[in-house]
Amino acid sequence: MKRTIKNLAVIFMMVIAFCLVAVQASAADASALSFTACEGGVMVSDCNESAKGEVKIPAEYNGSKVVKIGDNAFDNCVDITSVIVPEGVKVIGNSAFEGCMNLAEISLPESLTTISSYAFFGCDALKTVALFPNVTAIEEYAFYDCASLESIAIPEGIETVAAGTFGECAALKTLFIPISVKNVESSAFINCKALENVYYTGSMFAWYGITWYEDNDSLVNTSTSKFGHVHAHTPLVTTQPTCTEKGKATFTCECGNAYKGDVDALGHKAETIPEVKATCTEAGSTAGEKCSGCGIILTPTSIIPATGHKTVVDAAVAATCTATGLTEGKHCDFCGEVFVKQEVVEKIGHKFDYESLKKATTTENGERKGTCKLCGYQADEVLYNVSVFKLSTSKCTYNGKKRTPSVTVKDSAGNELIKDRDYTVTYADGRKKPGVYNIKVTLKGEYEGSKTLKFTIAPGKTSNIKATATKTNAVKLTWKEVTGTTGYRVYVYKTTGGKTRTKVASVTTNSYTLKKNYAGKSLVMGTEYKIAIVAYTKISDKTVIFAENGVAYTFKFAPSAPTLKVTSPSKGKAKISWSDVSGETGYQIYYSTDGKKFTKLDSYKGWPDAQTKSGFKSSSTCYFKVRAYTKVGSKTVHGAFSPVVSVKIK
Ligand SMILES: [Zn+2]
Ligand SMILES: [Zn+2]
Ligand SMILES: [Zn+2]
Ligand SMILES: [Zn+2]
Repeated sequence: MKRTIKNLAVIFMMVIAFCLVAVQASAADASALSFTACEGGVMVSDCNESAKGEVKIPAEYNGSKVVKIGDNAFDNCVDITSVIVPEGVKVIGNSAFEGCMNLAEISLPESLTTISSYAFFGCDALKTVALFPNVTAIEEYAFYDCASLESIAIPEGIETVAAGTFGECAALKTLFIPISVKNVESSAFINCKALENVYYTGSMFAWYGITWYEDNDSLVNTSTSKFGHVHAHTPLVTTQPTCTEKGKATFTCECGNAYKGDVDALGHKAETIPEVKATCTEAGSTAGEKCSGCGIILTPTSIIPATGHKTVVDAAVAATCTATGLTEGKHCDFCGEVFVKQEVVEKIGHKFDYESLKKATTTENGERKGTCKLCGYQADEVLYNVSVFKLSTSKCTYNGKKRTPSVTVKDSAGNELIKDRDYTVTYADGRKKPGVYNIKVTLKGEYEGSKTLKFTIAPGKTSNIKATATKTNAVKLTWKEVTGTTGYRVYVYKTTGGKTRTKVASVTTNSYTLKKNYAGKSLVMGTEYKIAIVAYTKISDKTVIFAENGVAYTFKFAPSAPTLKVTSPSKGKAKISWSDVSGETGYQIYYSTDGKKFTKLDSYKGWPDAQTKSGFKSSSTCYFKVRAYTKVGSKTVHGAFSPVVSVKIK
């Protein structure tokens, strides 16, 4: 009797079932069991009486199917609490679990047909037992004195409830009796005083047709008997279904009647694999479908080959006397990629047969009269003087490459003149090293005169500026040599004092020692200064090209050496004091027992009062020195040490 289910409650039940299965799996233990051969396979013949907790009986032993729980196999295993009997077992033998007083749960297989006499006799803790439709025999006293058993459903098909089967089940509250039952033998339900919900599939007439042994009268007369009961089974999933495989569930009615059945496979859940369009150069793929549950491909995708470019020609446009043209180009009509770029063709300019021509100069207008040989344009007009001569760039920084800036020439009406027709350009040689170069524009054709433009290549920016050997009154500056320079100017900025810079020196090498007192001025200790080194190239006495401001470097002069005083006021102690110097961040004190090897005793932020230190050896001579330090960012600049002071410790 297998059924399948198709309702949503299953999903909820599955979650619960999954949790239960997971917990049970870790507690299984079958090492306590013994097996012997029997008809059709092997049987569990014994269980060690010290076995505890859950016992999961294997479905096979040494390659043979376990088909039976032997007589007395588990009797008096008082510490086992639950037993899982595998599918395949058909018979539970006489007294198999008799006296298992802590056995609270037992999971029986669908394959079970026979529960022999006294099988669960005296299982005090057993609360509920699900029996499946294949059970056709429950023998005498099988569940006698199961004092905690709350519910039992007698399998449909059983005709006789044998003597003592459920006797003394004092907690039995819910009972199902199928219509197949015709006889109830002596003591089958004796002293089942808690019976409350008795379900019966037959009519009241059939109920009173059952032959009862007289000591079962309390059951016969139970006023809560429910006649004509119709089962309503609810599934508890024990094996999860997958997309393609059925799952398992136990279906149970409130009356206790149960059967095991399948749960429908979930079926694949189609999910679209989106189409990927092919491009000119890359293949795409058609849309497909896959299962969102197991990932299997349901509808495979197929490759869409790359389309390849579709090349179209961009036609050339001829230049005219007054309008620019374009060269022929090529591009892809699909993706727009340009294969041959269209270049602008300069306008041709009129070519006159002159009746008269007065040439324009840089200062004076001219005049033309005549007809264009190309387009027929008839001119009788002013030729404006040439007033604009412009370089694309007039100053750049040395980079080791030759420079050729372009030239734009316009008349005073704003019309651009045409190179080679209206003027030629002559560049001075070189144009690589720092210097000033001439670029001469010579007018021709309808124009006359010339103009010389200046183009400057400046030396590079100074970099890698460092301050080394920072001393109280001086700091040595070095920097990377700049190609093509005549020399460098050294400037000082006060970082807290705005943007004004002061020129300190002009040098011809890439180093300079900046002194605190220079040219009658004085820099201040403890103040942060920035320096800038500007490279320059001297062209003549009148012409000097300066580079951009070199990278500035922040520094401070080192603080001066303090004056130190040390006395010994009492046993093992030294009292240390020193003069406050300016511009310091703090002080570091060193001491020595031999005047040669000094170690750091302490360090202070700011200038502290006199410090008394203890722990010196009595009657020894100790040596001390102190120095100030200052910080530039995270870098520490140390001042010079004070002279060493010795003291005899009391
Ligand atoms: Zn039912
Ligand atoms: Zn699937
Ligand atoms: Zn393309
Ligand atoms: Zn023309």
